[in-house]
Amino acid sequence: MFFTLLRMKLHFQSYPLKLKHEFRLSYGSRTGTDSVQITLEDGGNTGYGEAVLPPYFGLTANDVLAELQNFDASILSINEWKESLKAIESSDLSSPTKAGLDMALHDLVGKVSGQPVYQMIGTVPAQMPATTYTIGQCDEAELKEKLLEAKDFHLIKLKLGGKDDWALVKQFRKHCSKPFMADPNQGWKDVNEALELIDFLKNEGCILLEQPMPANQPQGDQHRLKSESSLPLFADESVRSIEDLDSAAQSFHGVNVKLMKCGGIAPAHLLMKKASQLGLRLMIGCMAETSIGVMAAAHLAPLTEICDLDGPFLQANNPFPDPAMENGKICLTDRPGIGGGTRQF
Ligand code: MG
Repeated sequence: MFFTLLRMKLHFQSYPLKLKHEFRLSYGSRTGTDSVQITLEDGGNTGYGEAVLPPYFGLTANDVLAELQNFDASILSINEWKESLKAIESSDLSSPTKAGLDMALHDLVGKVSGQPVYQMIGTVPAQMPATTYTIGQCDEAELKEKLLEAKDFHLIKLKLGGKDDWALVKQFRKHCSKPFMADPNQGWKDVNEALELIDFLKNEGCILLEQPMPANQPQGDQHRLKSESSLPLFADESVRSIEDLDSAAQSFHGVNVKLMKCGGIAPAHLLMKKASQLGLRLMIGCMAETSIGVMAAAHLAPLTEICDLDGPFLQANNPFPDPAMENGKICLTDRPGIGGGTRQF
């Protein structure tokens, strides 16, 4: 099927995302995240995408705006969309900018051709796993408030790596009996202490642990932690692209795949295939994102066992409708494209 199209138009603007609650991690706290909202238009349809910029990328919204100003959108084509995705992927743009363009093109192609993205990439919505709700480090009053916000979610993700992880987990357990996973965001440096904490977490009902130690921790420590851990360990900061997988397979049981890290739906899909071949288990995650980034990732979620896609629920100014949830899972509908709804600005 071929489509006659007007020249594709690229638009973009900076949009600072504001969090509902101050977000505290092992390496600091913040109240918002820079983003650049992107559209690709063909005259009748609008494809949405976004680049979000948590501090660990070391990029500002102005860096992304400059990349997009210099990007020649005339190289993108609806009819040759798979080639266009490869052109984005092989460009020298930063990974969040690539991810924004990759999403916007998927959304536009889906809208023009009348297909949801899961059909374009061959995933099965019925295989969607439950979505987590993330709780950052906080005091007891704030914890109770957050648990109320998390009432529709069946799995909780606790951010650890603070001064007293033992106390934080005990406090969580006092108010919530749901299964949980934990993410110290590279906050643990000592293997023996980490192993003790892992046993404690397992006893408290934790199902997996994400990135306990720094990505640059000596390999001997990382290999020992993997071999002696009583919980499955998933890489996050240690895997930013497909090139990192061989080494990650030595230190982790699984990997948290994020579109912003690897440059969009197409490269994330490739990364997942290679990770599975290496025996790594799969989780899909997000940064502080709007519904567009999270719904884009949700089309890949049926390939994973953990769907860590709560970004829009934690934002105070998501410019799209929140993703629809049913029974603790994000719904993939038959709406064409990403299915993130219409942007409210
Ligand atoms: Mg993480």
